[in-house]
Amino acid sequence: MIDEKTSARIYLEQFEIAPNKYIIGVFEPGISIKKQQVRAINIFEALTKCEILNHNNESNISIGIIGAGIAGITFASAALKSNYQVHLFERQPSLLHLQELCYTRRIYPHITEWPEGFKTPYSELPFLAWKPDSAHNVSTRLIKEYKYIVGQSKFKDSNCYKEYLSSKVESIYDDDEKVKIVYSGQFGQKTVDVDLIIIATGYGVERGTEHGAVPYWRNEAIDQTYISNGTDQKFSFFISGTGDGGLIDLFRIAIKDFKYEVILDAIDSVPEKAKDLYNELIKIHDEASRGTVANYVYKQFDKLKNDIAYILDYLNKHNLRRGYDIQLTGEKNLGDIFDIRYVTYINSFIAYLLHCGGYYSYKVGRYNLEKREFDGKILPKDVQVIIRHGTDVSVVLQEIQMSENEKNV
Ligand SMILES: Cc1cc2nc3c(=O)[nH]c(=O)nc-3n(C[C@H](O)[C@H](O)[C@H](O)COP(=O)(O)OP(=O)(O)OC[C@H]3O[C@@H](n4cnc5c(N)ncnc54)[C@H](O)[C@@H]3O)c2cc1C
Repeated sequence: MIDEKTSARIYLEQFEIAPNKYIIGVFEPGISIKKQQVRAINIFEALTKCEILNHNNESNISIGIIGAGIAGITFASAALKSNYQVHLFERQPSLLHLQELCYTRRIYPHITEWPEGFKTPYSELPFLAWKPDSAHNVSTRLIKEYKYIVGQSKFKDSNCYKEYLSSKVESIYDDDEKVKIVYSGQFGQKTVDVDLIIIATGYGVERGTEHGAVPYWRNEAIDQTYISNGTDQKFSFFISGTGDGGLIDLFRIAIKDFKYEVILDAIDSVPEKAKDLYNELIKIHDEASRGTVANYVYKQFDKLKNDIAYILDYLNKHNLRRGYDIQLTGEKNLGDIFDIRYVTYINSFIAYLLHCGGYYSYKVGRYNLEKREFDGKILPKDVQVIIRHGTDVSVVLQEIQMSENEKNV
């Protein structure tokens, strides 16, 4: 049996990029807001178990945190609660800038735990907990609690917290016993000394935005009814990308006021069928998680076709929007768009439901953003194009200069 300290050490190794420098979950699978918070808290706890930090900052260590997204402020909260001096750097002018003022995205703490744990109301975290709501409302709530934590720590020592907004960290390097953080802010380039660094700079740059695609966390109106120009024109949407982002936008177009609760209501509309269906869905998920063969989930869903017909009937009656022509496209074969290696299970199931109902068509192919071209044809002007190509993670560490051996994560 390995002891607590050794297992904490092993846990930390996956996040350590050099002595005293840790990166929060950039390269792990399963990116979700709650998972990033759990990682931030676990890294802090592991650091205390390894006696690098402790719960009462007896060693006067200061911590530099790069990035004031959800992971950054969660780690900062843990550190402040244990009386550490925290320097928080954020290149944008506000905390949680991705989610701030984003009303079109609803977020769920247990999104990856469907069907079993999905309905648990709160995110079950010791602090900065949240429940399903718009990204904006969640961020407002979290910032309020974070400010309270900061206020409490300043009450103990007014120097314990420094926030550097609109300040991009350019480089970090070791110098004697300290780690230097070089950042560019309002007053030019400056340096701050800390003892330990947490890199919480997120998942990289969203692909396609350089060609004008609306970023995932920015508001748009695809879920609102199109205003007709007086003709009987059919409105057309073209979605490129079959990851969670592309599928969620497909749902927002196809289902009125889309929320996962709408789907759960539809499933639960016939309770005796719902019970058996959930059991089957759990079995499929468990089997697929063990290492799936190609098209496994798709084939299993196909066997449930008759059992899910009542869900489609319900959605048809209550929630589906009419008159839209929706084309989903991507580089994967149809079966792979339901594969839980690539998408969250709940999204895979809803995409299958809509596929069964014929609410969208799917075509394999690569969309050319510059030419607005797919399958050798330029898309007509009146087709609304949605690009969901995920992020380029490789830029994450390129943006901050470090010595070469520190980048080998
Ligand atoms: C397209 C997309 C859709 C997603 N949808 C969902 C969803 O529906 N539900 C869900 O739970 N999760 C979702 N996620 C995952 C979610 O975005 C992340 O889990 C969460 O935002 C990660 O938080 P973070 O703090 O690690 O990174 P971020 O929120 O990206 O925060 C990183 C911060 O670091 C700052 N930064 C970067 N470089 C520097 C620098 N050099 N100096 C100073 N500051 C810097 C950035 O400005 C940013 O504020 C999605 C992710 C993407 C990319």
